[in-house]
Amino acid sequence: MKDTAKHQGLRNQLVNVLQQKGITDVNVLDAIKKIPRHLFLNSSFEDYAYQDKAFPIGAGQTISQPYTVAFQSQLLEIKKEHKVLEIGTGSGYQTAVLCLMGAKVFSVERQNELFKQTSSLLPKLGIRPKHLSFGDGYKGLPSYAPFDSIIVTAGAPFIPKPLMAQLKIGGRLVIPLGDDVQIMTLLIRKNETQFEKHELGEFRFVPLLEDKN
Ligand code: SAH
Repeated sequence: MKDTAKHQGLRNQLVNVLQQKGITDVNVLDAIKKIPRHLFLNSSFEDYAYQDKAFPIGAGQTISQPYTVAFQSQLLEIKKEHKVLEIGTGSGYQTAVLCLMGAKVFSVERQNELFKQTSSLLPKLGIRPKHLSFGDGYKGLPSYAPFDSIIVTAGAPFIPKPLMAQLKIGGRLVIPLGDDVQIMTLLIRKNETQFEKHELGEFRFVPLLEDKN
């Protein structure tokens, strides 16, 4: 588990690429500058870890592309101590970005293999989410609700109602919606019943599946 000056140099280059692509939130960029993404990947991909690309992480899943992680994190408008719910822990890289941004992170993963792998990796890197959960993210985490923001990191066919219900008023829900291609969608909760919807371009994710595995 080594993090070298060479890795740091590659991270600085990645941050430049993300800035050129339009990421401006300094808290997001700072987190990406600090997190050793190569340690979240199978070592055979280590040399490519700082390219702006998605990679396989086992169980048929992928670690999201850094631009996608940065874009979603920026949309959440995280403030220190915000309670954030993440659906799709996967490799834990997005979880780590949110933790370094100062959020209290609650994350749910439906693949047991990834849940176990990531639960053991994050503490070794000194990253401490509030709660990692093995379960079905369609249900959210009602016992820890409400959340200041919610991020879904898999492509959803629709917006799960429990996630809308678990969002604070004024809170932000970021979710990629669609089957083959997803539209990044931001919902801002205006009051008990009303949500403002913004559509923010096309992305590609692995699907949000029902039930745990
Ligand atoms: N944030 C992750 C992205 C992983 S890909 C990262 O940066 O690595 C999406 C993840 O969502 C996969 O790990 C997949 O198993 C998980 N997933 C899919 N459907 C889910 C559901 N219903 N509940 C929780 N996790 C789910």
